[in-house]
Amino acid sequence: MAVMITDECINCNTCIDECPATAIVDADESPIEGGEFVYVKPEKCIECVDSTVPKCADVCPTEGAIVWDMPYTAEFNEYYLQGNEKGVYSIRVHSKKGIFSPENRPQSFRESISLEDRETHQPVSV
Ligand code: SF4
Ligand code: SF4
Repeated sequence: MAVMITDECINCNTCIDECPATAIVDADESPIEGGEFVYVKPEKCIECVDSTVPKCADVCPTEGAIVWDMPYTAEFNEYYLQGNEKGVYSIRVHSKKGIFSPENRPQSFRESISLEDRETHQPVSV
């Protein structure tokens, strides 16, 4: 991802329209089985690299609702595919191009965020 949304989310949906990558969907549209919260599609999130801060976190009223996840790059391909199998993610599968995995479709990420902060899912602060 990217960023991910936790169960701290109050489903206010404020972040959805702010995302420049249309990576966020509301709980009703969550592709996660039994998904109760707004969901960020990791295969689309670009971590708002062209902005000063991640726009979703900038408008989110809830501390800890949006946290860091690993870069969506080939290095973390297995991480995301395993998460996909476990139902943490639901990565898009294109009928002709196949799964939009990090290896096949890497995304931009903020190099300034440490891997430790990502691994421990630290809140995205703005
Ligand atoms: S960090 Fe940016 S691109 Fe990623 S979900 Fe948030 S608003 Fe969208
Ligand atoms: S703005 Fe924050 S609390 Fe509201 S839906 Fe998005 S992640 Fe959840």
